[in-house]
Amino acid sequence: MKKGLFIIFLLLCISSCDNNYKTGDNFQLVFTDVDNFWKMYDKVKTIEKEDERVKIIKTEYFDIATLGFKKLIKLDKLTPKYYSNYLRDTLFYNSIRRNVIYLKKDTVLVRSNLKKFSELYPKAKFSDIYFVIGLFNHGGVVVNNTMIIENQMYTKSKETIGDFISVNNLMDKQSLLPLLIHEQIHLSQENKNRNTLLGDAIVEGCADFFMYLQTNKRPSTLQKTYNFGLKNEFEVWEKFKSDMKKERNSVKNLWFYNYSIKEVVYPDLGYFIGHQICKSYYENSINKKKAIEFLLTEKDFEKILKLSKYRGGNKIK
Ligand SMILES: [Zn+2]
Repeated sequence: MKKGLFIIFLLLCISSCDNNYKTGDNFQLVFTDVDNFWKMYDKVKTIEKEDERVKIIKTEYFDIATLGFKKLIKLDKLTPKYYSNYLRDTLFYNSIRRNVIYLKKDTVLVRSNLKKFSELYPKAKFSDIYFVIGLFNHGGVVVNNTMIIENQMYTKSKETIGDFISVNNLMDKQSLLPLLIHEQIHLSQENKNRNTLLGDAIVEGCADFFMYLQTNKRPSTLQKTYNFGLKNEFEVWEKFKSDMKKERNSVKNLWFYNYSIKEVVYPDLGYFIGHQICKSYYENSINKKKAIEFLLTEKDFEKILKLSKYRGGNKIK
């Protein structure tokens, strides 16, 4: 009896500890929730009565949610009622539908691009990726090693319009692949726990740098940031140096996601500086494979900076 209980306990533990990473060959791209969404949407869009709408959204979308969507529902406290309000903007949903379907057709390209990271780093970790239609809380988010992407965030095109949903914060479909690569690289970083701005910049910038090594491209959403950074590198570095040892949350708003104060400080330069530190370390290393492993595992960020020999670009010899 005791043994039986122990086995049941063990099985429960295994099923609840769903933090198993995948390999480049067996991770899944799961579009079930996107498919469920459109089936549900076609039923809801012509119905006026609120209680009927909520019931359909519940049974046709929430009750049959995948593991990934369930995690997002819990994380963002999503409810069918919230969806019902958003779905009244049929102008918006009709206009993005084609682009969501387009993304779904690109799975071969997505898979092969993501898998390439294991060529750079054979110990690379991957996760299943769940695509959902969310309520605009994240571009993508990783919950217990499960990646969840709000697919509707990557649908901006000339034909995207909204009645009351704002299309300003949406990104185009080309932005999705770089985001997936960046997020998958984060999964392999063993030094993600960081306290300082320097740590933040290195963790984020390294993900961008490895993406660059993998694809020869920097994130399209940060192209202007990188252009600005390269033009003003030394000045940006000087400013960064005075903040870099500070507690990350106390200065984060000056270096990441600082779109609202862009007149004062150019947005997202933390990514740029971190990228340049990692690039400098990599270029100064003879053994490139070891350099990648070091950047993904070393928890002493000041050591990374020192060994990188980064001094703010070419102006300083
Ligand atoms: Zn990131």
